[in-house]
Amino acid sequence: MKRFLKIGIKQIPVLALFLGLNCSDKDLKNNMSEIDKHSFAIPSDAQVVHLDLNLKVDFITKILSGYVDLLVENKSHTNQLVLDSRDLSIEKVELDDKNQKPEFKLGDTIKYLGQALTIKITPETKKVRVYYHTSPQAAAIQWLDAKQTLGKRYPFMFTQSQAILARSWVPLQDAPAIKFTYNATISCPPNLMALMSAENDTLLHADGVYHFKQSKPIPSYLMALAVGNIGFKSLGKNCGIYSEPDMLQKASWEFANMGRMIQSAEELYGKYLWGRYDVLVLPPSFPFGGMENPCLTFATPTVIAGDRSLVSLVAHELAHSWSGNLVTNATWDDFWLNEGFTVYFEHRIMEKIYGKPYVDMLCKLEFDEMKKEISEMGDTSADTKLKLNLTGRDPDDGVTDIAYIKGCFFLKTIENAVGRDQWDSFLKNYFKTFAFKSITTERFLTYLNTELIKDNKHLQESIRVDDWVYKTGLPKNCPKVESSELLKSEIAAKEYLHPEKINTNDWTTHHWLHFMRCLPKKIRSEDLEKLDAAFKFTQSGNCEILCDWFQIAIVNDYEPAYKAMENYLCSVGRRKFVQPLYGKLLANGNTRDLAKRIYTKARPGYHTVTKATIDQMMENK
Ligand SMILES: [Zn+2]
Repeated sequence: MKRFLKIGIKQIPVLALFLGLNCSDKDLKNNMSEIDKHSFAIPSDAQVVHLDLNLKVDFITKILSGYVDLLVENKSHTNQLVLDSRDLSIEKVELDDKNQKPEFKLGDTIKYLGQALTIKITPETKKVRVYYHTSPQAAAIQWLDAKQTLGKRYPFMFTQSQAILARSWVPLQDAPAIKFTYNATISCPPNLMALMSAENDTLLHADGVYHFKQSKPIPSYLMALAVGNIGFKSLGKNCGIYSEPDMLQKASWEFANMGRMIQSAEELYGKYLWGRYDVLVLPPSFPFGGMENPCLTFATPTVIAGDRSLVSLVAHELAHSWSGNLVTNATWDDFWLNEGFTVYFEHRIMEKIYGKPYVDMLCKLEFDEMKKEISEMGDTSADTKLKLNLTGRDPDDGVTDIAYIKGCFFLKTIENAVGRDQWDSFLKNYFKTFAFKSITTERFLTYLNTELIKDNKHLQESIRVDDWVYKTGLPKNCPKVESSELLKSEIAAKEYLHPEKINTNDWTTHHWLHFMRCLPKKIRSEDLEKLDAAFKFTQSGNCEILCDWFQIAIVNDYEPAYKAMENYLCSVGRRKFVQPLYGKLLANGNTRDLAKRIYTKARPGYHTVTKATIDQMMENK
């Protein structure tokens, strides 16, 4: 709570001064608990509760234009509504009665946050209409030329709003503690289909006009739009796949288990509350593995491995329908509440369907990755605490294995301490109690204590909440991870000089990844050539395997893999893959220039999220 206070005092006077308002101590105190350091909004005064969006999608100018109606709940009879915006051009603003043209003002641009859009309203104002258009450089939106798509005939666009990029395509209150419902009308060129994080139609509309309705309250980072040459294939009563038509067959084979996943998730933690669950497979420049946009997960095509070995991504995004979309982190400092719970939930879905040995593989790989990341960050780094402090920073800095994997292992620690049955019924109640709300880490810990730990000294000692949440590094009571399946890879890696002796018949992607990670750091080129000849790594179509293999190639100056690596970096924009490759290329004196040359070529095809990360890496070199 202290961190909130510090920020509140810094931010509010700035807003108050600019508006010439009187900000009493009492007002300050009232605002504190709801101040989000990554938003200008003051929801304790006036909060947006519903949006009606009306936008035209123009692929020629790369601009969205139109208006948004914001329904406002004026809690404190205030005379101003504060919204977030970034690179938006505000054309005009109207209040309920359209003759009312209120004053509005865009504040100074602040790094990462953009500008506050402050609109004069009256205590009676119910609706504010903002006419605006986006910038062609809007950070949330990626515009793809036809040649950047699979079909190569039509352009494609999609948004990625998390964490605070929604404000670059809609003027709104861009804070995860603020939830609203929305309707939208989107006009796009005929022949193209528009989809949103809402109820979607599965058919193409000849006139290019689509209507959407999201009747459940969501935070702004779950606002999403995609437009392109998209087809649909049903995978059962309540779920299906959208993708470019040429990808539909492959994608629906890969994700055929989706219906079972939904059923397993419901058996674990209660009813799925969002109507349909569909997945949209995007072109390869999508910067993340998946994005849990409600009703419609956005997913990278890099999980389509042809053997269903990477489908845990769907379990993860589906799990977000409870952890994240239903119960949401109140600020980005509480990000682990979204991701730690989701990784835990994902593992439980996968265990139900594929069994414990499979999940042990996931756990072991993820745990090793986290340990590596912690050692790179330094185990005394404040960013290794579950509760983060992202003041003055891009909230995207919080997207590390700490929120995801350390968060998950904290929950596994609690499960081990109280037993699975008790833990499951706690979680079920947790999702029910906080459904459609946003909560802080502290609110969760209070709930954990009242409902589960109940001042039981023995439990307190075996869980050690503070060590996990507020201390750096990994606590001593972190559960051990072992995988009998991955032992096979460890044994095989010892035989790397004799690949012909290695039996890889029943190996999945996970076995291969662990095999590569267990190889010696330094390997002679001729030995890499032998491995490559035996296992066809350089020619692999599996993005996970390629990413690991190319890293080994760079560290060992194995040049025969470089051409394939260049093609990979120029076609895949998922940050998880390109970031380590540029990192290794920059760290090796022999490949630093190659890194710069490839990046110059690949950069125009990356989303802003990926560009921001790699730009920073290039600057530091
Ligand atoms: Zn997630």
